[in-house]
Parts: sequence; structure tokens; C-alpha cells
Amino acid sequence: MNSKLPNTKESIFSTMSALARHSNALNLSQGFPSFPVDPILKELHTNAVNNGYNQYAPMPGISVLRESISIITNKLHSAIYNPATEICITAGATQAIYTAIQAVIHPGDEVIVFTPAYDSYVPAIQMAGGIAIEIPMTLPDFKIDWEVVNDHINNKTAMIMINSPHNPSGTMLSHQDMLQLERLSIRYDLIVLSDEVYEHITFDQNKHLSAARYPELKKRSFITASYGKTFHITGWKTGYCLAPEHLMKEFYKVHQFLVFSINHPAQIAIANYLKEENRYLDLGAFYQRKRDLFLNSIHGSKFSFQPTQGTYFQLLDYTNITDENDVDFAKRLTKEHKIAAIPISVFMNGKDPKMLRFCFAKEDHEIITAAQILNSL
Ligand code: PMP
Ligand code: GLN
Repeated sequence: MNSKLPNTKESIFSTMSALARHSNALNLSQGFPSFPVDPILKELHTNAVNNGYNQYAPMPGISVLRESISIITNKLHSAIYNPATEICITAGATQAIYTAIQAVIHPGDEVIVFTPAYDSYVPAIQMAGGIAIEIPMTLPDFKIDWEVVNDHINNKTAMIMINSPHNPSGTMLSHQDMLQLERLSIRYDLIVLSDEVYEHITFDQNKHLSAARYPELKKRSFITASYGKTFHITGWKTGYCLAPEHLMKEFYKVHQFLVFSINHPAQIAIANYLKEENRYLDLGAFYQRKRDLFLNSIHGSKFSFQPTQGTYFQLLDYTNITDENDVDFAKRLTKEHKIAAIPISVFMNGKDPKMLRFCFAKEDHEIITAAQILNSL
């Protein structure tokens, strides 16, 4: 059999979480919260099941949730999305990303992706017959050089994918970045896929700039979001996609035959949860305290770092500790020192800036234990 994805291996998230389990290590690798979900949200889910929401949801998602997303997006970004034609509830952002790409990318189309890139992007492009054009972000600050992007655009370029706040670096795109992207997308008539799953997890004075805020970008963009990140429910696999009607029309066609519709009780629970406004507003402060606890606790260690601007990930540079490659170091840390992290070279074609990604969406005592281990290296 001819593999459709010959270069795709097991995801590093599966590999490192399995190794953490087998080694009985603290798992700061795969990004998921270790603390409990809000009991109110759990109860709303149970109520949804008990109240009979156990059959198929409508294809694009329940209308009350789409309406609530529309209102929230307008409030946050002054951007209007029609809940009936421009919003789809998805099985997490992963399905939203995959669906958007299948909906608009044709065989031979080129899609620009910035590396390090979340690991589902390139296989999704390849499954559509597209060609991923991987442009490295500039190091050590993980920025996008828009002149380089301009040089990579040709008549086959169909889409640019962005992700801000960025996994794994925690950097965020600035207003200037968004203007450059908008300019290129207009000039070359490109579609944009803006992966905004960490939209509410931002720190210090950094403000998330959604593609929805930029009128010309909004006209050309799919925006993907994840309730897994916002409400600490990665296992519910619930998120959504926003896009203007002409793009969402194509998205719906793929969505209806990929999943038809997604988990009904989860949608009911989230819609009811969102009846109380501003459920997500404290998320940045909540995670900033955890980031600061982590960074203050490792201040005396041999790691060096730039405090992350957004996401619940922190990169640590380990050049003062070892010259091992990052995969070997991550595995050794897990087995010998009982702490698991993600080696980021796997998101950048093997290029190894000797940094590991640590997830601090953890209970405080786990963060402190992690710091004690890291300080001992
Ligand atoms: N994009 C990025 C950048 C992510 O970090 C993640 C989750 N780690 C996803 C997409 C997928 O989100 P979900 O779990 O909702 O499918
Ligand atoms: N998004 C999570 C991370 O970056 C993991 C998602 C997954 O396991 N596929 O760690």
C-alpha cells in the first residue's frame, strides 16, 4: 500500500505522554490542564445528558451556541459573523483546521506555514493534495519576516496559516504583523487560516489581535478556536470555526460529511455556561500567575528563557546544561529525572535550537515540584 502520509510519524504528544506514564514522570509535555473543570460546567453537561440531548445536534452546531459566539466575537473584536451562515461548531480546533483546508485547498496549491508549526497543519495540507511551504520563524525571538514571505508567494500560493498566540514559542503577532499579512492577502488574493486557540491566554500588556479585527483579512480568513483551552476541557474536543459566508459554505460541505455534527451535550453545556457573561475574562490572569510561579521558581536554574507572552507553554533554553539534541534530552529527562517536556525540533524539520517546551497548565504543587527538578540539573 502506498502511504498517503509517508513522512508522518506518531505525534510527539502521544510519544511523550506515553513515556511520561511509563516512567512515572510529571507530565509537562502534552498541553492539557491537570486541575479540575469548573463544577458548574460539569453539572451543565450532566444536565444536558439527563435532559435528553443525546441525539444528533444540527449540522453546523446548536443555534444558541452559534448566536452566543457571534455576540462574543462582536464584543471582543467589533466583527460581525452571521450565526446562521458563518459559524460552525467543531470537534476541537483540530477538526476545524482540517476541514477548512480540505474545503479550499486543491491538489498542487501551496500553503505557507511558519515553523515551528503545530503538528496537524502539514499532514492536513498534504491530505488535500496541497504543498506545505514551510518558512522558519526567525530565531531566537520567533518572529515572521514578511519580506521572506513575500518572496515565497507565487501563482500557486493559495493560503497562509498563522497561529497567535503561538504554540510552542508563546510569541504573539503584532499589529504591524497583522497589517503585513492583510496587505499580502489582498495583493495576492490569498485565503488565511488563523489558528487562535490561545486567544484568551495572554500575559502582561500583550493583546490578542484576531484576524476578525481587520476587515480585509476577515473577508478572507478562517478563524479556529478551542473550548478545550478556554474552559480546561481538552477531552471534550469542542471548538469552532468562523469564516465569511462564501468560505463557510465550502466548510459546511466538508464538515457535514466528515463528522456531520459534533457532541450534542457538550454544546448544550457550553451554551448554558456562556449565559453568564465573561467566563473567559480571567483566564489570562489565571495563567499569568502560573507562568510567574514557574519562572520565579526556576530563576536560579541553568535554563535561560524569555517569558512567554501567551499560551500555557514556556520554552526553556538548555544550552548551559547539555549539548544533547532536544529529543534525546527530553527522553532522558523523562526517564531519569521524572519530568516530561516537548522537544520543539519535531515542529521545525529537525532544526534544533536546544529548547524544550514546558506546559504550566498544572496544579501549583506540580509546578513547584517541576521547578525543583529543573533547578537540580
Ligand atoms: N492549534 C494549536 C496551536 C494547538 O495548540 C492545539 C491544541 N494543542 C490545537 C490547534 C487543537 O485544538 P483542539 O484540542 O481543540 O483540537
Ligand atoms: N495541543 C496540545 C499541545 O500542543 C496537544 C494536542 C494533542 O495532543 N494532539 O500540547
